[in-house]
Amino acid sequence: MTGTQRPAAGDTPGRPARPDLRRVTGALFVDFGDRERPPRARYQCLRCRTVEGPVTGAPLVAEFVSSVRAVHAARCTPQEPRT
Ligand SMILES: [Zn+2]
Repeated sequence: MTGTQRPAAGDTPGRPARPDLRRVTGALFVDFGDRERPPRARYQCLRCRTVEGPVTGAPLVAEFVSSVRAVHAARCTPQEPRT
């Protein structure tokens, strides 16, 4: 293995190294719909593999998007990763 050099973390000018405290723990899917379909949203947690929703309709979607992470976090029961 010769000739390949990668800069170590923290060597990038202007971007101080810091631990990445943010992890992807879930995915929020929002379908804004159109004239014939109302908006929909659902949230899939990657830690406990639960899907919240879907909810349908603009008011419900708006509330769901703003609160689902906190709501789910309160009842999330992460599963041990299996190999
Ligand atoms: Zn969860």
